[in-house]
Amino acid sequence: MLVPLILVAAALASAHHSGEDFEGSKVFRVSVDNENHVNLMHELASARQIDFWKPDSAAQIKPHSTVDFHVKAEDVVTVEDFLEQNELHYEVMISNLRSAMEAQFDSHSRATGHSYTKYNNWETIEAWTKQIAAENPDLVSRSSIGTTFEGRSMYLLKVGKAKSNKPAVFIDCGFHAREWISPAFCQWFVKEAVRTYGQETQMTELLDKLDFYILPVFNIDGYIYTWTSSRMWRKTRSTQTGVSCRGVDPNRNFNAGWCENGASKQPCSDTYCGPTAESEKETKALTDFIRKNLSSIKAYLTIHSYSQMLLYPYSYSYKLPKNNAELNALAKAAVNELASLHGTKYTYGPGATTIYLAAGGSDDWAYDQGIKYSFTFELRDTGRYGFLLPESQIRATCEETLLAVKHIASYVVQHLY
Ligand SMILES: [Zn+2]
Repeated sequence: MLVPLILVAAALASAHHSGEDFEGSKVFRVSVDNENHVNLMHELASARQIDFWKPDSAAQIKPHSTVDFHVKAEDVVTVEDFLEQNELHYEVMISNLRSAMEAQFDSHSRATGHSYTKYNNWETIEAWTKQIAAENPDLVSRSSIGTTFEGRSMYLLKVGKAKSNKPAVFIDCGFHAREWISPAFCQWFVKEAVRTYGQETQMTELLDKLDFYILPVFNIDGYIYTWTSSRMWRKTRSTQTGVSCRGVDPNRNFNAGWCENGASKQPCSDTYCGPTAESEKETKALTDFIRKNLSSIKAYLTIHSYSQMLLYPYSYSYKLPKNNAELNALAKAAVNELASLHGTKYTYGPGATTIYLAAGGSDDWAYDQGIKYSFTFELRDTGRYGFLLPESQIRATCEETLLAVKHIASYVVQHLY
């Protein structure tokens, strides 16, 4: 039967009335070989509204790299013409962002509620934090470290066998709202901890000797916004009087070389550092908690995507951390563990040289507080799906990442300070 096209279009439009539909939006990858190419990309970014995926902003583009960015449907032709006229080599990574957004939900799990192999919305994750603590009272307890800009509780799960004066590893997920694989990992970690405690030697020893603090979603307001309104949102959702754009990049908001490099002072930028360091309630809640527990927290791990990288300080400058050699060896061993499962290749090293300069990050801040083992994970993939990693990859991604995290935690147990 022929269905009038206009009715189909109307039905599709109404199904997505709650947000941008991204129909016809594309993700490009451009090869940047020299300074001229860098300048051309800056020119393009100032003329058109471009959503940078990797690096995070035009200012962070450097020669001999590739740049991934998302272009709205109405700008696609202009951007393609610009790239061709200037002989910039490019490929289209995602030809229709809307199709890729729908294709993320390819899990075969038929569960309607919480699932470890699906992306869960905040409401589902919040209920899960309560349930997993209730079901495992000897291993998991839930608290709140503060509230978000929009007033939501920032739940923290403490995972470990109860014992006094234990050292701890802090892990957070969901800094950047659109990096959905990140919260999926925090949930996976807690599940595996309770499932394998008393069964598997390494996890049992870790939970006997350490506490893990797991913050499943740091930027809850932003995460909700990616589900309800705009899938590609990155920042928090805070407002300032007299400023029309919302949100601060939480990973530019920490007091570590704050806003000096690779961050923007423009409120509309996706890498906006905020009006002051720790301006965001979420940042303040996290730094307060860590400062209060500094004597026990021995490692800090923050989970992002995408790029397949394991980074350690510094990102705010090219200086190297005091224990650079140790962190380098530990990162190398951790990525080898990670690769042992599915062959996924990670690069590793100090943030500034391995990825790019970016001031105000939580890993640098934690390190400068005296936490010697501070790492940023950039999970799968390397750009094929980018932030739209299909649910069918959650399991493999979380399994391999867990190996690296356990390796780092075991090292910490053996190198207490
Ligand atoms: Zn991120």
